[in-house]
Amino acid sequence: MMNIYLDYSATTPLDRRVLQAMMPYFEMDFGNPSSVHVRGQKAEAAVENGRESVAKVLHCLPEEIIFTSCGTESDNLALRGGALAARKERGAIRILTSKGEHPAVSRTAEQLADVHGFCVKWLELDEFGMVRPETLIDALDEKTAIVSVMYANNEIGTIQPIAEIANLCRGQRVLFHTDAVQAGAYLNLDVDKLGVDMLSLGAHKFYGPKGIGVLYARRGTSLLPQQTGGGQEGGMRAGTHNVAYIVGLAEALRLTFEERDERREHVMPLRDQIIGTVLEEIPDSQLTGHPTDRLPGHASFVFKDADGNRLLQILDAAGFACSSGSACKTGSPKPSEVLLATGLSREWALGSLRVTLGMPTTAKDVEAFLRVLPGAVEKARKRH
Ligand code: PLP
Repeated sequence: MMNIYLDYSATTPLDRRVLQAMMPYFEMDFGNPSSVHVRGQKAEAAVENGRESVAKVLHCLPEEIIFTSCGTESDNLALRGGALAARKERGAIRILTSKGEHPAVSRTAEQLADVHGFCVKWLELDEFGMVRPETLIDALDEKTAIVSVMYANNEIGTIQPIAEIANLCRGQRVLFHTDAVQAGAYLNLDVDKLGVDMLSLGAHKFYGPKGIGVLYARRGTSLLPQQTGGGQEGGMRAGTHNVAYIVGLAEALRLTFEERDERREHVMPLRDQIIGTVLEEIPDSQLTGHPTDRLPGHASFVFKDADGNRLLQILDAAGFACSSGSACKTGSPKPSEVLLATGLSREWALGSLRVTLGMPTTAKDVEAFLRVLPGAVEKARKRH
């Protein structure tokens, strides 16, 4: 039975080289970086080397790197920590974010509104899922605590004009955060070129371990810590360091940076083959997200009147692991809010499919998938 993984936006396998770099910190070098003795010092050196290595890729200072437990935690710290600090310091009460954000950002913004009385403005997406920078101009003012717009979208792959948005925020002296969890595997992460104040990453999207993330926070950024306790991470994120995972994240990011061109070149033609074939061979199909400004390994579609959940099950039974843009559950279909925000109707949005590629994906995998997909869509359209 075939078992082809086409869901690299959900997570990636751990790179063997990364695992090798991590192993000593589970075994011999198991010390707590906060301990004074030699074992502790060794662990501390590993964390600080990791921090420097991450800072090199992000083109920032090591002290601007905060290690967290995942991309979600980084987003929470940026948004909640940034919003609460801005209100405390200057009475700012508005949050600007987009209709395309991952729940790590959107649910946090909703909670800040419900529990803390912030006012959230949801920036519109265009038909390609893009936030037009000009939509920010009228919305930005001195009452704005923070703006958060993702770098690349997980459901539809669209890459946002982050540098332009950052520039507008800087002009108004408003804090700008970007969720770069999907962008981390392929896009430029130079925070100076991007002009962002904060940027979130999660290691498991670029062949690192699950359960470890980074928040870059520009020097001088006011953040209210979300996890209080010992003074780790400059007091911004208390808790004993996850040394082996920090080492793993740093090594995975270093390799991603070094091999970025090669990785892009591997997945991009395969992605284009999938997009071309689907649009040509499957009637009533549409690409979602931007046709060119999209993640290199990301293909996403909607099929009119198809049941996206059923399509995933049919593909899974045929040996292909994909994902859907929608959070639909059998019996209570709920179309993806992101797809609806791009202007798609329910009939289209419910039939969504996301196919994401990675380094292990081969041309043969893609060919096998494309042989099966048209029949699978046809079946997922039949009403029983
Ligand atoms: N943000 C985006 C855009 C994501 O795609 C994801 C994961 O799918 C997250 C945040 C959450 O990251 P993590 O799984 O590291 O918590």
